[in-house]
Amino acid sequence: MYDLHIHSIYSDGTSRIDEIAKYAKRKGLKIIAITDHCSYDSWGNKLLDLKTVMERRNIIENTRIADLTILNGLEADILANGHVVLPKGLGKEFFDVIIGSFHILVGVHEWERSLLSVIKSGMIDIVGHPLAYIGKIPWDIAEKIAIAAADHGIAMELNSHYPFPDIEFLEICREYGVKFSIGSDAHNLYAVGNVAECFELAKKLHLKLIDPYHFVKSSDQNI
Ligand SMILES: [Zn+2]
Ligand SMILES: [Zn+2]
Repeated sequence: MYDLHIHSIYSDGTSRIDEIAKYAKRKGLKIIAITDHCSYDSWGNKLLDLKTVMERRNIIENTRIADLTILNGLEADILANGHVVLPKGLGKEFFDVIIGSFHILVGVHEWERSLLSVIKSGMIDIVGHPLAYIGKIPWDIAEKIAIAAADHGIAMELNSHYPFPDIEFLEICREYGVKFSIGSDAHNLYAVGNVAECFELAKKLHLKLIDPYHFVKSSDQNI
C-alpha cells in the first residue's frame, strides 16, 4: 500500500515529517509522498519561500526508515487561469511528484479550460481530488479531460479526504486508459495511510493504478 498525498507542518498539516514517516511504517506503507500545499492562499505561503522548500527537502532526504520510501512531493494550486503555483525559482524537476489541485470554486467551462491546459503543460503528475470543487461534470467534458490525461500520462487521484468522484467520471477515465493515484490527504498523523477504501474502490471498478515507484529518482531510493 502507498499514500501519495500527505500534508506536514510545512503547510497546514499538524505532524512533522519524521512522525509521519514512523507512523507510515507502522501502518505498513512502503512509499509515501509529503505533498505540502503551494498556494497564494495563507495555508501554503511557506512553500513559496525557497529556503523553506530546501529545508523540507533535506528533512525528507535525511529521514531514513528501512523499507519506506519518502517522496519529495507538492500539492500545487491550479488557478482559474490554468496557472500552476510552484515555489518561486523552482521547476517541476525539483520535486519527485506534483499533485495539481483546484481549491476554489469555478464554473465548469473555466474548470475544463484550465485543467486541460495544465494537463497539456506537463507541469503536474496527478490531478488531486479532481471533482471535489466542481461536483458532477457533463460526460462530454469528462471525456475530453480523460483523453488529455491519458495522452499526457497524468493520473487522476482517489482521495479519501473528499467524497469520491461519481462513478461515471471514474469509468470514463478507465475507458480512456487513465491511471489512478491514491492518497489520504492526511492533515494529521492518524489520517496517514487511511487509503484502504480507495484501494477497494479501485479494485471494484477495475481502475488501473499508477506504480508509485515510477516517481522515485534512482538516487533517492531509501533502502
Ligand atoms: Zn487539496
Ligand atoms: Zn491536500
